[in-house]
Amino acid sequence: MKQYDLIVVGGGPGGYVAAIKAGHLGKKVALIEKDNVGGVCLNWGCIPTKAMLKTAKVYKQFLHAEDYGLTINDKSAITLNLADIKKRKDKVVKRLTGGVRGLLKKAGVDVYDGFGTVVDNKTVNVNDETLQTDYLILATGSHPFIPPIPGIEDAFKNNRALTAKEILDLDILPKNLVIIGGGVIGVEFATLYSTLGVDVTMLEMSDQILTRIDDEVRSTYVKILKNKHLTIHTQAKVTKVTDTHVIYEKDGKEHQIEAEKILVSIGTRPNVKGLEALNLETNKVGVVTNEKMETNVKNVYAIGDMNGIMMLAHVASKEGLVAIENIFGDGEEINYERVPSGIYGFPEIAYVGLTEQECKERGLSYKKSIFPLAANGKALAEGESDGFIKILAETTYNEILGMHILAPNATDMIAEAVTTMELEGTANELAKAIHPHPTLSEIVMEAAHGVIDKPIHI
Ligand SMILES: Cc1cc2nc3c(=O)[nH]c(=O)nc-3n(C[C@H](O)[C@H](O)[C@H](O)COP(=O)(O)OP(=O)(O)OC[C@H]3O[C@@H](n4cnc5c(N)ncnc54)[C@H](O)[C@@H]3O)c2cc1C
Repeated sequence: MKQYDLIVVGGGPGGYVAAIKAGHLGKKVALIEKDNVGGVCLNWGCIPTKAMLKTAKVYKQFLHAEDYGLTINDKSAITLNLADIKKRKDKVVKRLTGGVRGLLKKAGVDVYDGFGTVVDNKTVNVNDETLQTDYLILATGSHPFIPPIPGIEDAFKNNRALTAKEILDLDILPKNLVIIGGGVIGVEFATLYSTLGVDVTMLEMSDQILTRIDDEVRSTYVKILKNKHLTIHTQAKVTKVTDTHVIYEKDGKEHQIEAEKILVSIGTRPNVKGLEALNLETNKVGVVTNEKMETNVKNVYAIGDMNGIMMLAHVASKEGLVAIENIFGDGEEINYERVPSGIYGFPEIAYVGLTEQECKERGLSYKKSIFPLAANGKALAEGESDGFIKILAETTYNEILGMHILAPNATDMIAEAVTTMELEGTANELAKAIHPHPTLSEIVMEAAHGVIDKPIHI
C-alpha cells in the first residue's frame, strides 16, 4: 500500500496548486482527478469562456470597423464559424491543462486518473488501489444546481436546457437563448452570445442582476450591457418550461418567451460524492471550514468551490496554499475582504474590498472619488471610453476600503488595488506612484488624487 504525506482529491485550481506547492516543499504527494486536471476553471470555466469572449470582441470590432477608419464593404460576408471558434478554445485549454500536468510531474506529484473514494481520514481508494496518507485535502469543486422547475428535466434530456459546461460545445448558434440567472456566469454568456447575434433574454428573480457589485457600477453597466440582442428582466420568476417557451411571472402577470436553448445558471452545490464516509459538516453553501481551511475531521482540509465561500479560481488556489501552510508551514489565514472579483464583459468590471453600500451599512466614515474613462488618453485612443473608476477610502488616513473599475482590462488593473490594500496602503501612495503614460492604469492615479483633493485631468 502506497504511503503519502498528502493526498489531494480533485485537480482543479484549488487541488493542483496545493499539490504542486507540497511537492515543492519536498513532500510525497498524490493528486487524484476523475476527469482532467485543471478542473472547471481550465476545462470549461474561466479559460474557455475568455477564449470565446475574445472572438466576440474581435467580431464586434469588425462590425464597428468604420469607427477606426476602416471600411468593410460587405459586413454580411463576415461569417461566424462556431467549429473554428471551438477549435481555438480547445487548443488553449489543451495547452494549459498539458502545462499543468507538466508542472505536477516536475514537482514530483503522483497523479492518479480516477475517482477518489475516501475511506477514512487516512485512506483513499482509487482505481482498485488503496492509498494511505497523513493529511487529506479535498478539492472536489461543485456542480450546477438545477432548480425543480416543471418541464426543466425534459428540457435537459432533449439538450434544450444546458449548463455552463454543455453550452460551450454547441455546434450551431441558436436563434435565441434564455438565461435563467443574472449572476456573473449568466452575464458573461449573455455578453458572448448577444455579441455573436443570438437574441438573449436574461431572467433574474431578484430585483438586480450582479447583486454583489457596487450600485453605481451596476447601473452604468446595465445600460452598456443592454443591446439590440440582449434583454434583461429582473424580478422575473421562472415557473415552467414548455417544448418551445420559458414561462415566467413578473409584476403579478404571466409572460412567455420563445427559447431554442436555455442556460441554467443559478448557483452550484458542492461535490461530496465519494466523501460520505467522512461525515463532513456542511452548511447551506458547502463543506464547513475555518480560516485555516480545516474541516470538522482531523487532518482533513477542504478548499475551493466545495466550501462555497467564494466561487473563484484564485480563491481556490489561495485556499490551497493556505491549507499547505497550515499543514507543513507556519500557518496562514485567508482574508476574504481582499479578494478581487472580475466580470468579463465589454467593458470589464473588477472590484475589491467594500462597495459603497457596505461602507454605509457599516457606518464607516469614507471618501469617494470617481474618475471617468472619457478623460483618459489611452481609452480615447482605443475607442473604449465607456466606464469609470471609483475609489472608496477612509477619511483619517485615506486607506483604501474598496476599488471598483468599469473599464477594458479592469481585471488586470485591479491587482494594483489588491497589492496596495495588502500593504495597508493609502490613496496617497497610489497618487504618488508614477504611472506610465498613456495607459488605462492612470485612472487609478487620477482617482487617488481625487481622494486627496482633486484629479489633475478633470
Ligand atoms: C462558465 C464559468 C466561468 C468561470 N469563470 C471564472 C473566472 O473568470 N474567474 C474565476 O476566478 N472563476 C471563474 N469560474 C469559477 C471557477 O471555475 C471555480 O471557482 C474553480 O474552478 C473552483 O476550483 P476548484 O479547484 O475548487 O474546483 P474545480 O475546478 O471544480 O475542480 C474540482 C475537480 O475535482 C474533480 N473531482 C470531483 N470529485 C472527485 C473525486 N471524488 N475524485 C477525483 N476527482 C474528483 C473534478 O473532476 C474537478 O476536476 C468560472 C466558472 C464557470 C462555470
